[in-house]
Amino acid sequence: YISVKNLSKKHGHLEVLRDINLEVTPGELTVLIGPSGCGKSTLLRCLNGLETLDSGSIIINGIVLEKNEKTPSLSSDFDKKARAIRENVGMVFQNFNLFPHLTLLENITKAPVVVKKMAVKEAQEKAKDLLVKVGLATHANHYPCQLSGGQQQRAAIARALAMSPKAILYDEPTSALDPGLVHEVLQVMRTLDDEGMTQIVVTHEMRFARDVADHIVHMQEGNIVEIGTPEQIFTAPKDERTRHFLRNFL
Ligand code: ATP
Ligand code: MG
Repeated sequence: YISVKNLSKKHGHLEVLRDINLEVTPGELTVLIGPSGCGKSTLLRCLNGLETLDSGSIIINGIVLEKNEKTPSLSSDFDKKARAIRENVGMVFQNFNLFPHLTLLENITKAPVVVKKMAVKEAQEKAKDLLVKVGLATHANHYPCQLSGGQQQRAAIARALAMSPKAILYDEPTSALDPGLVHEVLQVMRTLDDEGMTQIVVTHEMRFARDVADHIVHMQEGNIVEIGTPEQIFTAPKDERTRHFLRNFL
């Protein structure tokens, strides 16, 4: 269960997120949309414990992250909780971010072994299962540079899954891919949705959003202007700004 209450975030004097309120029920897929610079990546980074908060709170899996009044930036208590959140929440980036000098198997086993102290054998067994799941069973010993973008991104999802996360956040996971490779990555996310994984996805793939999302969150200038089901957002947006934003995609 993910809950964001009255979250605000500044970069210097710039208010990047303003009074964000958001609830995500387990098993849901939430799509975040909005123009460049509206704060989508920043919100994901906050949800993954990668940013300090200027006000408000984030609750993920019972861990409460909030601004610490006494030591506003890097109190060790905040750090500890942020780390705990990162262990529970996977993140997938636009540019795959696999470790280039490690094979896929090594990429996927690293965090469970180092962070969770999982036995190497067990981590490898699990990694192999995950590679099967994302359609890369025969690529365990390949290096990222030997793979297509779509394959790298599927490997990145397998790497996130290796930590048995409670949720996965994706920041434009298909934006760096050739058009022909987008589908295979979206398909993995669909399968995870069918299996009940909680996912929050920043994407411009509106057909995917319409077909798979439980809720669509539309942001502008650091604010959430509208949250709705795909049906409501695409056929009867309540906010004029949503109508206007979607016009560019239809
Ligand atoms: P895009 O669609 O282009 O990825 P976005 O919605 O993800 O945009 P963010 O990356 O969250 O937007 O950025 C929101 C605002 O915060 C932008 O104005 C950006 O310039 C600013 N910003 C982001 N990170 C920093 C930072 N580390 N320092 C200063 N300003 C930042
Ligand atoms: Mg972004």
